[in-house]
Amino acid sequence: MEIYIRQKCADCHGVGQIRHPLWRKFYEQHPDPVTNEDVRQWFEGHPHPLPDEQIPCSSCNPKGAMRQPGYIEEWVSVKELLELLLGHVR
Ligand SMILES: [Zn+2]
Repeated sequence: MEIYIRQKCADCHGVGQIRHPLWRKFYEQHPDPVTNEDVRQWFEGHPHPLPDEQIPCSSCNPKGAMRQPGYIEEWVSVKELLELLLGHVR
């Protein structure tokens, strides 16, 4: 027997978007308050143009997917389901 389950995505916490890796690094190195000058200097040192701060989460929001972003849907066996449930209560 298999069961179809839907779970909130662990990577984006159900939002369907994540912060771009360069922006994540930026915020790690620039605690609040952040100025426009901080942003300008940081991205000047990188070979890319200024990327969008939020990008689609690749774990739950692959291009062309017809499901709701932010959630993972999959068929699991009863064994897998039990392991998932036990993992949640621990
Ligand atoms: Zn996600």
